[in-house]
Amino acid sequence: MLPQIRSVRPVGPYTEIIEPSDLNIVSWPDLSLRMRATHVPSVEEASLVAPRMIELMHDAAGIGLAAPQVGLPWRMFVTFIPDADPVDRVFVDPAIELDLCGSPPQPYEEGCLSLPDLRLEILRPMGARISARDLHGDSFELSGSGLMARVWQHEFDHLEARLIFDLAQPVDAPTVKRWRKVYDIQ
Ligand SMILES: [Zn+2]
Repeated sequence: MLPQIRSVRPVGPYTEIIEPSDLNIVSWPDLSLRMRATHVPSVEEASLVAPRMIELMHDAAGIGLAAPQVGLPWRMFVTFIPDADPVDRVFVDPAIELDLCGSPPQPYEEGCLSLPDLRLEILRPMGARISARDLHGDSFELSGSGLMARVWQHEFDHLEARLIFDLAQPVDAPTVKRWRKVYDIQ
């Protein structure tokens, strides 16, 4: 028998009974990608859903996955960043602080597990500090730069319903337009 949990369901159309094995990565234009995440999962909820999110992230060869990407408007994401931070990490109710006083924002090509076939050069601050709770409910804080800080920012953006094409540079506008012409209607 699979574990079942009843969510608090403050807002949003997510199901009241969640079976983690039923969760899958949603693709654009799924509405959950455009819903700001408002639910802060309890330790119990997070502990049931996080392993499935980690499994989906690895199956898709991704380095981060946010709860809205599995259809849940929860303030939670997971990461596994080869070389930089090769640990399955869970961030519950994260807060992020960007290092805006150092070097200027750097470009780097990003993709997203929910936006097939789209890669865009995104400018982001090099460094960030993140605080969150883990699956025991304990608070932790991490500082990082480069890819680590970038992944945190990308995943945090999902909680705010912000996607990489929202951050595209003007030069990539035609690419985004072409991509959306195909994917908006799917
Ligand atoms: Zn993404």
